[in-house]
Amino acid sequence: MKQKELLYTGKAKSVYRTDTKGKLIVEFRDDITAFDGGKKDILAQKGSYNAEVSAFIFQYLEKNGVKTHFLNMIDERRMVVRELSMIPLEVIVRNIAAGSIVRNYPFKEGTPLKPPVIVIDYKDDSRHDPMVNDDLIVALGLATTTELKKLKTVALEINRLLSKLLVAQGITLVDFKMEFGRQGRTIYLGDEISMDSMRLWDKKTGASLDKDVYRFNKGDVMATYNSVAGRITGKKSVKNAGKKQR
Ligand code: 5GP
Repeated sequence: MKQKELLYTGKAKSVYRTDTKGKLIVEFRDDITAFDGGKKDILAQKGSYNAEVSAFIFQYLEKNGVKTHFLNMIDERRMVVRELSMIPLEVIVRNIAAGSIVRNYPFKEGTPLKPPVIVIDYKDDSRHDPMVNDDLIVALGLATTTELKKLKTVALEINRLLSKLLVAQGITLVDFKMEFGRQGRTIYLGDEISMDSMRLWDKKTGASLDKDVYRFNKGDVMATYNSVAGRITGKKSVKNAGKKQR
């Protein structure tokens, strides 16, 4: 398969056309950003850690009956995916109160949320991804009521599967973000599931094992990504652990 022209550049990934109809290539770059792009860096190997974890998780979810856009990897940072018409929503599932819901609502950080809380944001950087409710989503024509119901059921099933996978590695899935897209009438999980889109805490120590390490200067970001990637995929220490950050 040949990589063709650049279709889209996001904050940390680039999407390319290919010479095969219905297939795209997603390249995970080494860019890392936080606070709506207010903080930015390039960290060597970051893209490959996220690609590796995303690929592993997509394959695990597929094995467990979840439809994802993942097809195969070309190299350590390029993934072949199904071309989807993306739904501009960020579907977030929260198992423990942390991050923006602690800032915006009277939750104490660390409070378990049972049942898990689903929060949906409208994906639009210029509007700072505002939270939307079911009525707004339908009124904006972003999804039908039936699709919304399906999105929420799938999101909770993914949360159940992912929590189970991670807890076996001593990792608590605090919350995470998903994006979905359509091919025909079928809805697929798209985008990525990685240390950039999950909030992970070490079960024993409570230490952050995700992008919060970068957001809040909690330590060596790439050493953390390297070690978490190893724990999630079961592969021992990948690449240049703790390599000096650029
Ligand atoms: P929060 O709303 O607390 O900032 O984020 C909740 C969860 O969703 C976190 O795991 C966070 O990483 C993820 N998340 C929320 N918005 C975004 C986003 O725009 N991009 C990415 N990659 N993850 C997000």
